[in-house]
Amino acid sequence: MRTHPHEVAAQRRSPRARVIAAVSAVRCRWSGRILVVLALWARAAGTEGIAQDFRFPVRHDHGLRSCRGELSITAEGIEYRTAYAKHARRWAFEEIRMIVLASRREIVIHTYEPHRWALGRDRPFRFEAAQEIPMEVSAFLSARVRRPLATSFIAADGAPLHEIGARHRHRFGGCQGTIRIYADRIVYESRDRPRDSRAWRWSDIRRVGRFGPYWLEIVTYEPEFGGPTRSYVFDLKTSLSEEAYDFVWERVYPPAHRAKESNQ
Ligand SMILES: [Zn+2]
Ligand SMILES: [Zn+2]
Repeated sequence: MRTHPHEVAAQRRSPRARVIAAVSAVRCRWSGRILVVLALWARAAGTEGIAQDFRFPVRHDHGLRSCRGELSITAEGIEYRTAYAKHARRWAFEEIRMIVLASRREIVIHTYEPHRWALGRDRPFRFEAAQEIPMEVSAFLSARVRRPLATSFIAADGAPLHEIGARHRHRFGGCQGTIRIYADRIVYESRDRPRDSRAWRWSDIRRVGRFGPYWLEIVTYEPEFGGPTRSYVFDLKTSLSEEAYDFVWERVYPPAHRAKESNQ
């Protein structure tokens, strides 16, 4: 095979110059086709880059005062950049105990840092975003974070296996909404109190329970003010079938987990 003139010259150049020379040599032979491939590759890499890198201005709430900065969520973890150096943080996902997307403008990061005033409690970082946090942040964290996650962001994708009208019980009164059971998650979408909406992956649920077919309790890993974990109690408007409850139960308590429990 005849050596192309570009390739001879390339041997005496730096590695980068050699790559460029090699590409231009190929281009000599295959003209525009390679350029199209490179352009498509660059475009695909570009969109992936955007999808895994979220930055937005936030206010860090602490009592009477607050500091401001930028929260960035990437494949590496979460970083809070602020001029107030004492509160600047960078957490890898493993260093975070739990993330709560409490509303479209609120994200709470529960860390393992000891709380300054409350002995034995972990320190939460509560951030308020200047604008609505993108929906993609929730999907990104659900795919990336293995620790418990609580999200009030409800994406309407896929057809649920079961759908039941429900009332979420509060200490006083309640809110109205719908429970939807999917293959990979359970969702409560509140109609009148969006910040009570939740989408839980099975691993985000600590326990499920019920007293009869019209009452369902979901105990989560979310810390509750004045108690260890937050429990959601629902009155169901139509009965939850045995089949649907078994489906949920089997996913919340996978066989390996059940074997471990019974050995204890
Ligand atoms: Zn602060
Ligand atoms: Zn509610």
